[in-house]
Amino acid sequence: MDVFDRAQQQEEFFRDKSLAKQLAKTRPAPGKTIALDCEDCGERIPEMRLTVNPEATRCIKCQTAFENKNKFGGAD
Ligand SMILES: [Zn+2]
Repeated sequence: MDVFDRAQQQEEFFRDKSLAKQLAKTRPAPGKTIALDCEDCGERIPEMRLTVNPEATRCIKCQTAFENKNKFGGAD
């Protein structure tokens, strides 16, 4: 009978999965501060935006402008 072996394997599989999920949730890395003010215009970044993207350093308006500039300005 290898029922126990299989059960253990399954348990490990699910534990690994939930661990990975938890790790993904703990981003950003320790020591990294979350920006509260847009680095371009200095306006407060909406909390909703930081919830979706904790690494955001610009408000939506400035981020969009930044990305557009990068897109059309060409690469280095
Ligand atoms: Zn801004």
